[in-house]
Amino acid sequence: MTWRATVLTLFPEMFPGPLGLSLAGDALQSGRWALETRQIREHGIGKHRRVDDTPAGGGPGMVMRADVVAAAVDAAAPDGDPRPRLLMSPRGKPLTQSRVRELASGEGVVILCGRFEGIDERVIEARALEEVSIGDYVLSGGEIAALALLDACVRLLPGVMGASDSETEESFEAGLLEYPHYTRPREWEGRGIPDVLLGGNHAEIARWRREEAERITRERRPDLLPSFGRQS
Ligand code: SAH
Repeated sequence: MTWRATVLTLFPEMFPGPLGLSLAGDALQSGRWALETRQIREHGIGKHRRVDDTPAGGGPGMVMRADVVAAAVDAAAPDGDPRPRLLMSPRGKPLTQSRVRELASGEGVVILCGRFEGIDERVIEARALEEVSIGDYVLSGGEIAALALLDACVRLLPGVMGASDSETEESFEAGLLEYPHYTRPREWEGRGIPDVLLGGNHAEIARWRREEAERITRERRPDLLPSFGRQS
C-alpha cells in the first residue's frame, strides 16, 4: 500500500525538495509513498487570491484566513479521509519518534504549512487540526518542518531503509540516545577505537553500547530517562 502525504502550502515548489533524493527519493520513485502538494492560494479570495489579512486586535504581521484555509483543507482531505490532519506550528506538541512511528504505520498524513504570523484559531478548532512542532525555535514557514516530519516517517516505511535493523538501535528507539560509532582507520590523529569494539566479543560489545547509550543519555538528556523527575 502506498503511504500518502498531502501538503497544503503557499510554496509547493519547495517539495519534494530534499525528499526527492537519496532514500526518500528512491522510495518516492518506486511508489512506496506518494506526495501531493496543493497550493492554498487556489482557494484565495478575489482576483488577487488573497489568503491572509491583518490580525484582529492589531499587532504586526498577517494571519491566514480561516475560510481560505478551511476550503483548502476540505478540498485536500474530504470527510472520510482517514489521515490525520497536521498543522506545523511552534505551539504544537513536540514531534517524537513514537508519534513518527504511529504516523508511518497509518495511511499517510495531510499537512498544513503556516506562513506569516500563523493561522486563524477558528479553523484549527473547526477542522480539528493537530498542531505539531519540530522544536522550540521559530521557522519562517511550515514547509521545512513538514519536510522534516515527512523524512522521519518515510524512512520507517517497510522497505525504505537498506539495513532493516539499523533503525531499531537508533537514538530514541530504545528511549535512549545512541552509543558512539567508529570505523576505519583504526587510529586517527592519535585517537584509537575502544578495545572492546575490536575484540569480537558480541555480548561484551552489546553491553558496552548499552552502557554508553545510558551514560550519554544521562549526561545530555536526563529528561528521556524513566527516572526523570523522581526524587532520589
Ligand atoms: N507567530 C507564530 C510563528 C509563526 S512562524 C508564533 O509565534 O507561534 C510561521 C509558520 O512557520 C507557522 O505557522 C508554522 O507553520 C511554521 N513554524 C514555525 N516554527 C515552527 C516549528 N518550530 N515547528 C513547526 N512549524 C513551525
